[in-house]
Amino acid sequence: MSVIFSHQPNPKVTFLGAAGTVTGSMHLLQYKDFNFLLDCGLERDKKTELKDDEFPFDPDIIDAVILSHNHSDHCGKLPALARKGFRGQVYCTPASKDLLGVVLKDSVNIQEKEAKHRNKSKNRSVPSQNDAFSILDRCIPIEYGKTSEIRNGVSIRFHDAGHLLGSAITEIVIGKGEKVFKITYTGDLGRFGLPFHTNPSPIPAADLLICESTYGGKFHDDEEKMAAKLDLVIRDTIKRDGKVLMPAFSLGRTQLLLYYLETWMQQRKIPRIPIFLDSPLAVEISRIYKKYGHQLAVDWDSESGNVMILDSWEEAQSASFQPGPAIIVASGGMCEGGKILSHLKNHLDDPRCSIALVSFQAPSTLGAKLLEKKPSVYFHGKSWNKWAEIHEIKGFSGHADQSDFNKLLGPIAQDSRQVRLVHGEPESAKALALELAKMGFKDVKPVRRGESVTLI
Ligand SMILES: [Zn+2]
Repeated sequence: MSVIFSHQPNPKVTFLGAAGTVTGSMHLLQYKDFNFLLDCGLERDKKTELKDDEFPFDPDIIDAVILSHNHSDHCGKLPALARKGFRGQVYCTPASKDLLGVVLKDSVNIQEKEAKHRNKSKNRSVPSQNDAFSILDRCIPIEYGKTSEIRNGVSIRFHDAGHLLGSAITEIVIGKGEKVFKITYTGDLGRFGLPFHTNPSPIPAADLLICESTYGGKFHDDEEKMAAKLDLVIRDTIKRDGKVLMPAFSLGRTQLLLYYLETWMQQRKIPRIPIFLDSPLAVEISRIYKKYGHQLAVDWDSESGNVMILDSWEEAQSASFQPGPAIIVASGGMCEGGKILSHLKNHLDDPRCSIALVSFQAPSTLGAKLLEKKPSVYFHGKSWNKWAEIHEIKGFSGHADQSDFNKLLGPIAQDSRQVRLVHGEPESAKALALELAKMGFKDVKPVRRGESVTLI
């Protein structure tokens, strides 16, 4: 598939990623001779032949990127876009801009390491830190609620999506006078039931609503159930004098997890034991969370609590082997990389210990293999016996579930013309489409990759 650029008298959106899957968000909005990207994300579980540094269009023809938030499946391809000739602007919220600096640096590091591993260090198309800087240089922050005309006849306004610090629902108004079109892109939507990030803002009605569908038709566990499950895991591990390992993504999930661990300890919902954090990236990100504390639903400062931060490999090893029970939160939500690996090597075959998985585990990742009912697992050149107890604690997700969708979308059912569902496995997108039809939305469809909608 490759996109042909041409003059578009009416707005046209082509869905280039996150179609029938939850990764690789990227949608092309064309109007007159302007070409905009809504997000520019990496695809984790590849369903295309495109490599991480390839695009189905010529990047130098893109005028601007509108960025919903900083998870790598929404922003991770920005350095590659710059490397391939993109010279436009990136519009996002001020907090997103700050987070982007940290996240892209880390993302480029990983891409460089992977290229080196594949012996492609001389491959000049792999993005570098300079490409990440080039993206930051062209990043223009826009506050929530402020309307900005980014090109003649094209205005955008961000609303808090409540999914992550700085995350935005984008309201786009195109055209002037009698012929005005409205497009709303939800990005990833947050939740009402997990009050750490703010509640998502009302979604503006639109001629075309591009809506995520990750948890369409599903319902998350509530806070009480999550705390009760974790309480059991920790109590059993204390009896065995073991450690509880908690792998967590550094952006958003770690901050949320630490907040809940500390809060539940204060409320005596879980036993009070030491908490160690082994994630330099999460520490950097937590400082940005502190800077924008007024945008959170709670008063939170990672450095004023009881969490002990591990600054070096030696400190991490010492905490890992320190006698007595403790919780170790470490980077690597799906156990595919990150600091969790060295703790897993220390404790996965120790029957006193527990591993509590608090993130979605994509098929074929090490995290998913830990959950399988097989007696062993293979990683880092060795077979491991999995004698530690493995638990999955659901409910920490930052994504809206069906009850949130009902609350957010119900009020705009009569005023929205077309809804296209992205960012969901086919089963979830279909389930959400059915619910939206019941709510009164008239034209709702999950998208297919490469499909376009032209507004008339
Ligand atoms: Zn996200």
